[in-house]
Amino acid sequence: MSRPVDAVIFDWGGTLTPWHTVDMPEQWRVYAREIHGIPIGSPDVPAEDLAAAHDLAERLLAVESDAWARGRQEHSSARIETILAEAGLDPGHDRAHLALAAYEGFWEPHTWTDPQVRPVWEGLHERGVRVGVLSNTIWSRAYHRRIFERDKVLDLIDADVYSSEIGHVKPHPEAFRIACAAVGVQPARAVYVGDRLYEDVHGPQQVGMRAIWVPHSDLPSSQVVDVDAVPDARAHELLDILGIIDRWQGHGTDDVV
Ligand SMILES: [Mg+2]
Repeated sequence: MSRPVDAVIFDWGGTLTPWHTVDMPEQWRVYAREIHGIPIGSPDVPAEDLAAAHDLAERLLAVESDAWARGRQEHSSARIETILAEAGLDPGHDRAHLALAAYEGFWEPHTWTDPQVRPVWEGLHERGVRVGVLSNTIWSRAYHRRIFERDKVLDLIDADVYSSEIGHVKPHPEAFRIACAAVGVQPARAVYVGDRLYEDVHGPQQVGMRAIWVPHSDLPSSQVVDVDAVPDARAHELLDILGIIDRWQGHGTDDVV
């Protein structure tokens, strides 16, 4: 199993960020309340404003859920702008920026980078291995990079690819080819790390990448696609990745799965 590794590419949610169970309907209630200018906890909001915000939040959740389902079934990607438009929101709405800020505020506690990311990425660079990110996401590159910058790891990323800016989501093989090209390595010499067997193990193995599974996430059953995929290795914490890469580089004593 010793075969040189030139790059390790990482999933984001549940891998670089510790897994959180997130109240998905609430993200859109926060957004919709801001669109309708409803202060949280205010007793004096007209009933029609509350109803309009409720309806918008329900539409946004339904459109987003459909987009993720299409991703699982057809491997097509979606962007937050198209989700907002499909839910009937005018992109020029004068409160759209405030609503997006409120939405991002809702997500903030769930986006923190695992403290082991920096030492792992530094360790990979010390070994001459490049670091990439490939995420299934509706969010923009700019937003993801702001999160990495906030957590002081952006400087360690050699290339990052977000499904919102390509046509496909994982496990589509093209997503992995694009990510390998972005870091400038052949798939056979690249490794993928993620928390989902279908998207993050089966996906990269289709193009000849090796896959390290981080089995931490308590995934909702509605998001799990049954697949017969066996990871090339498991990491019980992110720091385990360095030892796995050392073994694959031929610096260890045994091949470990
Ligand atoms: Mg994930």
